[in-house]
Amino acid sequence: MGYVTSIAGGFKTLVTGLGVTVKELFKKPVTLQYPHEKPELSPAYRSLIKLIRFDELGTHDCVACMQCVNICPSYCIKIEGGKVEGIKRKRATLFEVDFALCSVCGLCIDTCPTTTLEYSRLYDEAGYDRNWTYDLLAEYRDYEPEFREKQREVEAKEAAEREAKKEAAAKAKAAAEAKKKAAEKTPEKGDGDKKGGDA
Ligand code: SF4
Ligand code: SF4
Repeated sequence: MGYVTSIAGGFKTLVTGLGVTVKELFKKPVTLQYPHEKPELSPAYRSLIKLIRFDELGTHDCVACMQCVNICPSYCIKIEGGKVEGIKRKRATLFEVDFALCSVCGLCIDTCPTTTLEYSRLYDEAGYDRNWTYDLLAEYRDYEPEFREKQREVEAKEAAEREAKKEAAAKAKAAAEAKKKAAEKTPEKGDGDKKGGDA
């Protein structure tokens, strides 16, 4: 009797388990076949910082002002750079971030005066060691010579326009002064007649 009860109990457990399996089989899966399937990230998702490209510049706009370096609570940003020969705009020549230390707090993004820093949407960075120092300029180096050449032209054009405006303003001022002087020298119409009439 005990034997039969045991078999019946086992059978019931089997059917219950199969029932759960069949029920779950037709539900929408909650897992992904990563890496063949990629997750859909929330718009609010944020990850390691990156330098962004501006269409009008064709590259990033880090001017090596060091504000991000100074505000970073993790001391994980290293930047070098400064004035570049031939152009006024300063440029970063080295931009490294140790992401093993970065807390993705975003203070560097908030403080950047040129808004060239932004959160990336990376989610699957992996490695075999603890070296997480990234060169954020790596993807921009090839564009730098072209950017500098264009910037030289832009700055030369701006300087020429400023000079032309200055000259035009000086000419207009001189013309106005000459007109004023001429007006002061010319007696007002009717002055002579009035004097003659009084005599
Ligand atoms: S996100 Fe925060 S911790 Fe990371 S580099 Fe920027 S300021 Fe530093
Ligand atoms: S704050 Fe912005 S412009 Fe200044 S060094 Fe950092 S990334 Fe470059």
